[in-house]
Amino acid sequence: MNTSIYEKPLPQPDPDSQMFWDGCKEHKLLVQQCKGCGTHRFPPDSMCYICQSRDYEWVAVEGRGVIYSWIIVHYSPHRAFSRDVPYAVAYVELNTPKTIRMCGNIVNCKNEDISAGMPVEVVFDDVTPEVTLPRWKPTK
Ligand SMILES: [Zn+2]
Repeated sequence: MNTSIYEKPLPQPDPDSQMFWDGCKEHKLLVQQCKGCGTHRFPPDSMCYICQSRDYEWVAVEGRGVIYSWIIVHYSPHRAFSRDVPYAVAYVELNTPKTIRMCGNIVNCKNEDISAGMPVEVVFDDVTPEVTLPRWKPTK
């Protein structure tokens, strides 16, 4: 756990996303699965975008995927990130279910080594005692 003061903005969970963040705290990657049609969805929402059912459950997913797209941030949008630039933010397409893409930082990898289709896996960063952020590192 990082014991220094965390000065960056933190997620503000809402009723739809609270379980996702609770899962991260337990180092589990959770997504919603519609009980009407079985579709997995992320980001969390109260209604299925396929069948409009409001009945769903939370399921753990493996947390492995490939980089679908990414950017390198050179100018910090917030002064708390200024020491981190240049840093990578990627869309990761999960292996299972492939219908889900998640956004997050790429870690343990030089920016110039990032490529489309690169296999990655989730890592959980306990940034405060209350908040854990999912990030992505190359799969070995
Ligand atoms: Zn559905």
